[in-house]
Amino acid sequence: MNKFKVVVFLLGILIMLAVGYYYLILDRVPPKIMLENRKYIGANNKIIKISVKDNKSLLKQVGIKISQGQREKTISLKIEKNSSHIDYELDPKKLGFSDGEIKLIVWALDKSINNFFQGNVAKIRKTYILDTSPPNIFMKTYRHYLKIGGSGVCGFSVSEPIKRGGVEVSKYFFPAYRYKKNYLVFFAIPYDVDPKNLTVWVVAEDFAGNKKKIPLRCYIKRTRFRHSKINISDRFLNTKMVQFEDKFKGLSPLEIFLKVNKELRKKNRDMLRKIGLNTEKKILFKGAFLRMPNAARMASFGDKRSYFYHGKKIDTETHLGVDLASVARDKVIAANSGRVVYAGWFGIYGNAVIIDHGYGVQSLYGHLSLIRVKKGDFVQKGQVIGLSGATGLAGGDHLHFGILISGIPVDPVEWWDPRWMKNNIYYNLKQMEGDNL
Ligand SMILES: [Zn+2]
Repeated sequence: MNKFKVVVFLLGILIMLAVGYYYLILDRVPPKIMLENRKYIGANNKIIKISVKDNKSLLKQVGIKISQGQREKTISLKIEKNSSHIDYELDPKKLGFSDGEIKLIVWALDKSINNFFQGNVAKIRKTYILDTSPPNIFMKTYRHYLKIGGSGVCGFSVSEPIKRGGVEVSKYFFPAYRYKKNYLVFFAIPYDVDPKNLTVWVVAEDFAGNKKKIPLRCYIKRTRFRHSKINISDRFLNTKMVQFEDKFKGLSPLEIFLKVNKELRKKNRDMLRKIGLNTEKKILFKGAFLRMPNAARMASFGDKRSYFYHGKKIDTETHLGVDLASVARDKVIAANSGRVVYAGWFGIYGNAVIIDHGYGVQSLYGHLSLIRVKKGDFVQKGQVIGLSGATGLAGGDHLHFGILISGIPVDPVEWWDPRWMKNNIYYNLKQMEGDNL
């Protein structure tokens, strides 16, 4: 009886040891295969990184099978002695595979005695698209006459789907948007680019990251911008700078002015750039833009302004809109149909409204005393959107009117001109209608 108890006890311990060994010591986990998780293999990132690791045992075998249609290749990786880790860089192009879909199978085996000494097996499959050639760009528009500070539009088609496309002018980028089967880009020759050796590029990048760049044939006319002198009076500083006091605490009115004119102006421009991307992929404007009726032009686009205080020059800036003055608190109308993308306080522009007219074309109305629309509203050409005023950085009651292309200010005068619209905008849009392959 006693003997039997001892045997059962020992057997019990043996089973516990075996179970413990199986669960705690024996490696039952297969190696971990890490494959780059992306879809496209492009010319700039043509190597697929493969990494295999086993946490408990050494590696016994790692293999890769690559196939494309009937073509197949198997690679057995050389594992260093007593290694539990291997990295491999696979270059499908070098192995003779061509652009198109490639299928990958990676398997790995460890030296665990699990599975009756065969080891643990891991296997993963992944499909990639090998694409090493850039998209081809075909221009659809041929007439591009622009001036420095002016606007233009061009259209193109591409040989394959693109992730990003547009027009590059010096440091500026204007995104292209789908227009039926083609791509459309409203762009500008910004007022501050150097016209010497300036090339306007049309660029396109496919999903594999292959980039193509072609020069856009365009004629660029130089613009002579005006110089103007602005005297900053103590009265202006004392009455106007209170608007910005909460942002610049503890500074004198003159110090606030200098901060507002430099830092806040720059911040507002960056914000315009962001708002410029919030655009409808539809042409919402109809015909030429409306100018505020019966208003005199007080300042033009591109005016180089020098600011003087008690006869001393304190700052210089460029005016990037047109200032129009009528009677105080005059009706301000939407220059064209579109959607309100901003309505509220906007730094140097005071109370402002921005209307999106589609494809990155937007209009800005600054220094308002009253806003009658809200963000998201659809407004008709000529609809009253507010009243003029002198909020923000404005000496007297006037409307600061601006046109922006993807957030970059351009000369509004062109957009008011029906002939310019016909020859430069509608002509090119028509070119794209006619040829929609
Ligand atoms: Zn202005």
